[in-house]
Amino acid sequence: MAKSPEEEHPQKAFGWAAKDSSGLLSPFHFSRRETGDGDVTIKILYCGICHSDLHNVKNEWGFTMYPVVPGHEIVGTVTKTGKNVKKFKVGDRVGVGVLVDSCKRCESCQQDLENYCPQMVLTYNSYSQDGTKTFGGYSDIVVVDEHYVLRFPENLPPDAGAPLLCAGITVYSPMKYYGMTEPGKHLGVAGLGGLGHVAVKIGKAFGLKVTVISTSPKKEDEAINRLGADSFLVSSDPAKMKAAINTLDYIIDTVSAVHPLAPLISLLKLNGKLITVGLPEKPLELPIFPLVLGRKLVGGSDVGGIKETQEMLDFCAEHGIASDIELIKMGDINMAMERLAKSDVKYRFVIDVANSLSQ
Ligand code: NAP
Ligand code: ZN
Repeated sequence: MAKSPEEEHPQKAFGWAAKDSSGLLSPFHFSRRETGDGDVTIKILYCGICHSDLHNVKNEWGFTMYPVVPGHEIVGTVTKTGKNVKKFKVGDRVGVGVLVDSCKRCESCQQDLENYCPQMVLTYNSYSQDGTKTFGGYSDIVVVDEHYVLRFPENLPPDAGAPLLCAGITVYSPMKYYGMTEPGKHLGVAGLGGLGHVAVKIGKAFGLKVTVISTSPKKEDEAINRLGADSFLVSSDPAKMKAAINTLDYIIDTVSAVHPLAPLISLLKLNGKLITVGLPEKPLELPIFPLVLGRKLVGGSDVGGIKETQEMLDFCAEHGIASDIELIKMGDINMAMERLAKSDVKYRFVIDVANSLSQ
């Protein structure tokens, strides 16, 4: 008979899990594998709440394996190292993002694109190579192969820096890959949530002009005066949307729900690029005529590889970029999920794990 999550490994662990598609989280005892020769064990200090966590706990994508302990924006301190570990020592401040393993042999892995490895192991709701389930960062400790662990720069705040491990790399990677970094060009950011607000900051650091395209008029003042955007479009305002047709070189679409692409495509200039990173639960409709007539491109992108994630962390440290966060206690997690579902967060919840996870 299969062992319970609490008994399958030697290191005791404790966190909060969703146990069914109500998405409600509650305390959960489980276990972590022994620290292997190439592994580090990390005491988790902070963990960001990504909208993917919300999609997962509610089984909106249809592949959640309950119980699920979410969390893939993890910052912590190394407490144990295996004998072959070279990058880290006990006491180091480190980060763990969306993936914790891959095959290390395929074409994607060879190109530092572990995030596209067919055998990639996600930080939670996935199977490790030993066949046991992975559990994420809404928990006290995690054991990870050092290859998938990031050095967390000293001058990045560990709480506000945590969201960079998913939100940061998810917007940085497509900007680099699709050539969306040319200073002076005009970037649109659709959806001003966790990913979107970091995209504004990174876009400004690349020297872009940034316009936010949002459903929330009340976010305008902060988008411009606090996050540094140059302008703000409310997508439900037809006059403003019309006036902005043909003005953007690129758009990063971070919207988490089904939404029309046609208005976004119309904002793009000739040869413009619309890159979607949001993952709504149902397909979006793609209007072909405006793409063909304007030689426009629609693409996608999934987080980023480990090497590029390190590059992004170092870039953010150098440019003073972190997330705007609301720090919460683990016991407030269900309230935070409810507010996240309503786009009511400025602009990322981060759990103060080490100070609020009591058994
Ligand atoms: P978030 O903080 O909830 O932000 C999403 C934003 O989308 C909201 O703040 C809201 O912005 C806008 N929005 C929500 N519902 C909308 C609707 N019905 N119509 C139009 N706009 C709407 O979420 P997040 O953590 O940034 O994640 C965004 C999406 O990216 C999620 O689907 C997530 O799963 C996905 N994701 C993908 C990757 C990847 O690798 N590709 C990585 C991480 C996350 P406004 O209030 O400004 O309209
Ligand atoms: Zn995420």
